[in-house]
Amino acid sequence: MKQISADGAATGADDQGFAALPLSAAMLANLDRLGYRTMTPIQRAALPLALAGKDLIAQAKTGSGKTAAFAIPLLAKLDVARLDVQALVLCPTRELAEQVTQELRRLARAEDNVKILTLAGGVMMRGQRTSLEHGAHIAVGTPGRIMDLLDRGNLELGAVKTLVLDEADRMLDMGFHDDIAYVARRVPTQRQTLLFSATYPDGIAKLAAQFMKNPQRVTVQAQHEHNKIRQRFYEITDAERLDTVSKLLRHYRPVSTLAFCNTKQRCRDLVEALQAQGFSALALHGELEQRDRDQVLVQFANRSCSVLVATDVAARGLDIAQLEAVINVDVTQEPEQHIHRIGRTGRGEHEGWALSLASAKEMLRVTRIEDEQGREMEWADVATLTPAGSEPLVPPMATLQIQVERKEKIRAGDVLGALTGDGGISGDKVGKITIAEFSTYVAVQRDVAKAALRHLSSTKIKGKTVRVRLL
Ligand code: ADP
Ligand code: MG
Repeated sequence: MKQISADGAATGADDQGFAALPLSAAMLANLDRLGYRTMTPIQRAALPLALAGKDLIAQAKTGSGKTAAFAIPLLAKLDVARLDVQALVLCPTRELAEQVTQELRRLARAEDNVKILTLAGGVMMRGQRTSLEHGAHIAVGTPGRIMDLLDRGNLELGAVKTLVLDEADRMLDMGFHDDIAYVARRVPTQRQTLLFSATYPDGIAKLAAQFMKNPQRVTVQAQHEHNKIRQRFYEITDAERLDTVSKLLRHYRPVSTLAFCNTKQRCRDLVEALQAQGFSALALHGELEQRDRDQVLVQFANRSCSVLVATDVAARGLDIAQLEAVINVDVTQEPEQHIHRIGRTGRGEHEGWALSLASAKEMLRVTRIEDEQGREMEWADVATLTPAGSEPLVPPMATLQIQVERKEKIRAGDVLGALTGDGGISGDKVGKITIAEFSTYVAVQRDVAKAALRHLSSTKIKGKTVRVRLL
């Protein structure tokens, strides 16, 4: 796969305007009317390739103008005289689908009568079916609803020339992989596939390998690519160790923290101390049964638990995308292990803190870490740790556990639909949806957790009432 950076694509000031692109005069005039005078970096990198018909994996942070980067090419290929769905855009939620539809409508004003439909869950299917009967050029929707409409024979994708996966990382996060695969198989293979994402987790590469043809990768790197992990050491006595962890949490206020201990006993002591002080902390240790381990990991990964306390062994294989801090409650025996631990923070476009506690007895180990990394560590005084604000550190999300097992063939779209349909909560309040072997979990913003619980308890999922509880 070839990789092209935005800087490499920009060769001069003249290339920054849309006029350098092979676009119709009407499209250029409309862009001008919209006030789009210069391309954003991701547009500069993606548009020439997308307009040339290439498959593309485009990665840039939120707000960087990704919608126009796929909307302009798909509109350029549209045959308006033909009233068939020629472009399909998949989005994670109804709100995002509606945003994309709006931007597409603005950009489509260059042509008369481009028909664009939003096909997302949370609203009755009847209206969407009627609109589809009248015909459309572009469909924008969530994977679950698109699948339902396909299954019922209301949506025909045989004329699709462009398939767009927008916010692909978020769709994977929400458990839509299989639904995306199902929909992609119903689109002709002779098509262009454009994938847009804010981050580039492993799942994206797998998705691309399944559905894309020789995709070009364009990335606009966020700043601070280097040194995104900021390390700081604190000297403590053994008696201060557990209490200093709480001080670090109150001072830095990380949303998600992985706290490493060298022993299981230390893990138990720390979780007890943190919980006693009102922190949302859970332990991950080797003795947990699979279903309990799943439950702990789900709550941490979906941001409804602030601190995960673990030994190195228990944390093996754990892949958490966004981790604001790693705390080394004990210094590792081996310097390589230290690097392994701290490498879990500061990933993607995020910065991360690596905070380490060391007693006088552990100084030799710190020296070995410095030798391994070829530099001296930065030290700070525990006395400088002051609580930032008076609010307790509360995780942003809460987890609802739904008693439906994976073998019951529940899909993320079923859960999202049940949560957001008929006076439910808004889709942008829904976080990760995890379908585990023994249970299904959905994260919702903490302020709507009770409302979501009430709503889910009184609705049906796949025609059945379900048992739900708030963890
Ligand atoms: P993303 O999908 O990357 O989060 P959006 O596509 O939603 O970002 O774009 C963010 C905002 O920037 C929108 O309001 C959009 O209208 C505006 N925008 C996009 N491209 C341009 C441009 N070339 N010039 C001016 N504004 C733009
Ligand atoms: Mg977007």
